[in-house]
Amino acid sequence: MSKPVVSVVKFHDPYKTVKEALDLCDGLRDFRSDNKILIKPNLVGHDFDYPLPFGMITTSAVVHALVRILAEEGFKNITIGEAPLMIPETIGQRMYRALGYERLKERYGVELVDFNEEKFVPVNFGSFKLSLARRALEADRIINVPVLKTHNQCKVSLGIKNLKGCLDRKSKQFCHGKEMEFDLDRTFNHIIEKLPVALTVIDGVFVLPRGPASNGYAYRKDLIIASRDTYACDLVGAEIMDYRVKDVPHLRYFAERHGRSMDLDDVEVRGEDIEKHREYVEYDFDWLPDDTGPKGFAKRGISGLAVRKWDSSLCTGCSMLYNPMLVILMAAYTGQPFPGVEVITGKRMQASPGFEKTVLFGKCPTVSNKNNPNIKQAIKIKGCPPDLNELAGAMSDIGVNIDLKQVDSFRSYMYQKTMAQEGYDMDLYAIK
Ligand code: SF4
Repeated sequence: MSKPVVSVVKFHDPYKTVKEALDLCDGLRDFRSDNKILIKPNLVGHDFDYPLPFGMITTSAVVHALVRILAEEGFKNITIGEAPLMIPETIGQRMYRALGYERLKERYGVELVDFNEEKFVPVNFGSFKLSLARRALEADRIINVPVLKTHNQCKVSLGIKNLKGCLDRKSKQFCHGKEMEFDLDRTFNHIIEKLPVALTVIDGVFVLPRGPASNGYAYRKDLIIASRDTYACDLVGAEIMDYRVKDVPHLRYFAERHGRSMDLDDVEVRGEDIEKHREYVEYDFDWLPDDTGPKGFAKRGISGLAVRKWDSSLCTGCSMLYNPMLVILMAAYTGQPFPGVEVITGKRMQASPGFEKTVLFGKCPTVSNKNNPNIKQAIKIKGCPPDLNELAGAMSDIGVNIDLKQVDSFRSYMYQKTMAQEGYDMDLYAIK
């Protein structure tokens, strides 16, 4: 049996690099000129005030190169689609404007779609249903353009994971199931089975440690990885970040279900020697051994406060608030112990005994801890996702003064710090 082909090309000029990557893997072989083509980049979210898109979202340069190549090959029916985070409103069109995509509309007649503004169709996956964007289901060919990044819940986030952005909000939340049967690693990787993904191009201009969110850790990797086989493309992307498929539960589960080899030797890699680029990329954050918070809590001498580390049932809406929550709690520390506060999140965590107050951060822990006898005083921040203003108000009621301006200060600090380094070229996120 022939091996799936994956091309790995050193990034220089975006157009030439993407073209070479497609040529090496014969990427457009299955495409016909009358095909309805959907490009699915990773545009999960964006900070419009302090943009740090590096390694978090697909570069506009790579998407532009792809569109130009398709146009030159005579493809006319091209759509770009994504369902970004809703915080609380969807931001797809705003992101397209901020990232220069409007030019693709003007020059090549590309349609720019925010899936959140359109219809989703319920699709049966056997033991569960997910609602997929109608546009994705109706496309003839999907070109999947994830980024090369790690993920603090599922280790790597590449082509198979990027398709989670074709789901509606409820289905995304469902994928972070409470029961292990519907755990993150066992749900989203079924999506690809229902979609006509014909080509995957991993944008490795940057690589992101401790992803998936923007965090100032990204650095230049300058690689483009492409294949007509998404799983093989993910396998190579994972290997470049020094992960084996057998150690990445969602890829392993996919491989086992589809009888795929987990061995790099069973992939034909064309272009770069990947051993030259293999380098471990950290996916996780350091946490204190007694699960009371990040290591920074101990460094600052924080006591009387236990923020439990997230699990895979925490969905993206709450994940995006996690760091701001830690920032404001750290900033609230005055040198005096917190009044015995435990903070729990997600669908699985249960409040522990021995705390005076339990912060139930979000609808999920509020529901799952409804009758928990360990809770002396519940501080319910019930939103989905919860509201930091509400948290600030509730904490001030128990004598902890939260300054929400610290979140902005932190964003600004990270932005200044990151942009002062070399390689963070904002032009890669613009189309001129
Ligand atoms: S409360 Fe948070 S974890 Fe629960 S569904 Fe809402 S956003 Fe997701």
